Amino acid sequence: MVYAGIDIGSTTSKVVLLNEDEIILAYSIIRNSYNLAESGREALKIALSKGGLPQNEISHIISTGYGRRTIKFQDESEPEIICHAKGTFKIIPTCRTIIDIGGQDSKVIELDERGLVKKFQMNDKCAAGTGRYLDKLAEDILQVGIEQLGEKSLKSDNPLVISAQCTVFAESEIISYLSQGKATEDIIAGMHNSLAKRVIDMGKSGFIKFKKDTVFSGGVAMNIGMVTALEHLLNQKVIIPKEPQLTAALGAALMAKKKS
Ligand code: ADP
Repeated sequence: MVYAGIDIGSTTSKVVLLNEDEIILAYSIIRNSYNLAESGREALKIALSKGGLPQNEISHIISTGYGRRTIKFQDESEPEIICHAKGTFKIIPTCRTIIDIGGQDSKVIELDERGLVKKFQMNDKCAAGTGRYLDKLAEDILQVGIEQLGEKSLKSDNPLVISAQCTVFAESEIISYLSQGKATEDIIAGMHNSLAKRVIDMGKSGFIKFKKDTVFSGGVAMNIGMVTALEHLLNQKVIIPKEPQLTAALGAALMAKKKS
């Protein structure tokens, strides 16, 4: 029997296929088109083909994420906070805090020692606290690829302060720094510090104490500059899962197995 978790986020769709022993048989991560349902279907098709599995071997499908109700072939849908908790705790049982920064939202989740959600805070209202902030500033203003931000920021000796609370105003601040001849690395390091501080402040506003171990997931966790900024501000190491975008899809697949 195969159990499927499908996480349809605002930017990417992810699928994890598990077997009876909760071993990952195959997975997929694809960038969404404007049609979220189509992206969810495509991600499932790719994962099945990678695993050499026919769709009729799937005994239960759980969808999660922002677009979880856009598809119609799932057995159930579950909120992403629960799926993040289940998936992250499965791979890192020492996890007590999850910081997840995706394409258009961010979340901080506190877990108890059994992996159950104690508290959470989420931002899906404002681009400034999400991956979108980095995407937009990097691509539109700095013309630097998102994959290069991390390495570039590590070369910074003098991170600049980006104080704007909003992506549009941050753009003006960065343009002003560029016109003063400031180094791109210092600007990028400032962007990382600003995003990291925003996400930490969001967690603190929900009385989350960032107990160890803290796990950093979501696509933005692939940015080493963001990892460094969070570690510096939290004064602790953060753990990055091997595939940081997959934790909610894994959680959904684990729930699919339990509920089938
Ligand atoms: P969602 O689940 O919200 O759809 P993801 O967790 O997949 O989003 O994260 C998408 C974000 O991850 C993008 O906005 C981008 O900023 C970031 N990202 C994706 N790949 C990389 C990479 N290789 N390096 C740095 N950041 C990345």
